[in-house]
Amino acid sequence: MTPSDKTCFVPEHILRMSPYSSARDEFPGERDHITFMDANELPYSLHRLPAGINRYPQSHTQRLKERLAAIKGVPAGRIFTGNGSDEIIDLLMRCFAQHGEDEIMVFPPVFSMYSNRAQANNLGVVEVPLDERFRIDAAQALARCGSKTRMLFVCHPNNPSGNLQDEQTIIRLLEGFDGLVIVDEAYIDFCPQKSVLPLLDQYPGLVVLQTFSKAFGLAGARVGIAYASEQILAVMEKVRCPYNLSTSSAELAVEALNSHAEFRLSTERIRHLRRQLVTALNDMPLVEEVYPSEANFLLVKTTDGPGLYRHLVSHGLVVRLRHGRSGCDGCLRITVGTAEENQRLLDAWRRYGEPGTPEAENRPARARESDPSEGRFAGVGQTESSPGEAQLPAAKSQGQADVPPRRHTASRSSLETSVVVHINLDGAAYSNISTGIGFFDHMLEQIARHGAVDLEVITEGDLHTDPHHTIEDTAITLGSALLEALGDKRGLERYGFALPMDDSRAMVLIDLGGRSHLEWDCPFNAPQIGGIPASLFRHFFGSLAASARCNIHVQASGDDDHHKIEAVFKAFARALRMALQRNQSGILPSTKGMF
Ligand code: PMP
Repeated sequence: MTPSDKTCFVPEHILRMSPYSSARDEFPGERDHITFMDANELPYSLHRLPAGINRYPQSHTQRLKERLAAIKGVPAGRIFTGNGSDEIIDLLMRCFAQHGEDEIMVFPPVFSMYSNRAQANNLGVVEVPLDERFRIDAAQALARCGSKTRMLFVCHPNNPSGNLQDEQTIIRLLEGFDGLVIVDEAYIDFCPQKSVLPLLDQYPGLVVLQTFSKAFGLAGARVGIAYASEQILAVMEKVRCPYNLSTSSAELAVEALNSHAEFRLSTERIRHLRRQLVTALNDMPLVEEVYPSEANFLLVKTTDGPGLYRHLVSHGLVVRLRHGRSGCDGCLRITVGTAEENQRLLDAWRRYGEPGTPEAENRPARARESDPSEGRFAGVGQTESSPGEAQLPAAKSQGQADVPPRRHTASRSSLETSVVVHINLDGAAYSNISTGIGFFDHMLEQIARHGAVDLEVITEGDLHTDPHHTIEDTAITLGSALLEALGDKRGLERYGFALPMDDSRAMVLIDLGGRSHLEWDCPFNAPQIGGIPASLFRHFFGSLAASARCNIHVQASGDDDHHKIEAVFKAFARALRMALQRNQSGILPSTKGMF
């Protein structure tokens, strides 16, 4: 039996302390009609700074908690916000363990911040290593729990290995241990269906940590979240510093939650880039294993981790050397980057050992390499949160090539839809399309495949009404992404045409010149195609022509409507591909010198 009151281990001095109370807490009225002269703030904001930033934050970041509650299905009263998860980890140790006496348990190799904060709080650290596939042995863990063990830290997915723990293992820990089981889900947004948040009601000792630093892209804002029982959170609320989350950070976090379509697009993109990177790394020299990962990084076992690490640093690439950590001999941890960054990594990796590189001159050096603390580069053996200070050669910044990259992300939000489109005109036909209308997705995929562009589209629309807004707003957003990606159009071929033959026939002509016009000669036999009113296809191309400022002429014939519209999308994509070609002239393709 585990005690349901998890606050029974709260140290005496914490129980005795009274919480800090600000005048704002004592006066929780409508802020707009009140004159605040209580907190020694400046009574106005400097004019270049956001209005209201002169005031201390609303103490309880209520708006953020309410948004999270609606999305995560956890009551706002069971949500705690902090200055990054790091602060929350530290706070948990201050609130629920007796310094100088108690201990925590970790499962290495794991995020080093747990031990780091334990040291700062004068707590012991019991280490129970993960097995060779980075799994927790629950029986062994429970057997090692002593009378002074107050909290277990489970990293899920695990940093640095990237794997999830089995839910049954976590449940065994929750049922067999009487302290707090802290499940750190910093990377869970890359595999959200695996979150243990649904266990929260059942297990009073469960604390789930999440963060805006990873999939939400807000590492610089420092926003961490804890989900736990009200009892546990009451202690943390009492002990935390007032205003621990800044106004701007709380607002940015709400903004990130509101960017739901782009968030989906981004996490799916990172998963795609991760899959590509796994495939490529498996073909790299020195690679012994790329461990399966559910997060935005990969643990890669190599035959010469320290040598590779130094080689990559000398090429301006910083990865994380995990060699020397439990179960991580020869390992590097690599964060999934953009397609260009990943390519740069792979190119540099391939050059390892080439004549003229330091490692080629100086091999074998493995005896020295077995101790990462001997590495010449700062950053080796440091904690997670302090990036290495390796002396880097100036890394080539992105977009330094002769021609500017032709890509753009456009988004559009209205009462009916929320759309985000990313297009890369020099891509490799990658597509990730989700509009909620299967047939429409299939049509948009044709644009990527036959247009040889990367196209990512997430539309969250009012499909319960009808598909009209979803299709129209997707077209408008796609058009503006295309227009922006085209940039100044120098060297652009501008014109395109295509006439693929199926059992249907479709001819599409395009002029990317800058004027909007649609010619549509495409009669359909049935009122609907693929569940979409046939008239909406004309509307799609009309909206696209308007927002991309291009001429589109479509002519199609044939008996089968499905084939006909598919042929139209393919022909459009082929024509677009032709028009997107760049020549070496660098001139504007217009008889009038501009368009
Ligand atoms: N937990 C894990 C497992 C992490 O890897 C990290 C950062 N590397 C954190 C927590 C810290 O998150 P935050 O930025 O919210 O402090």
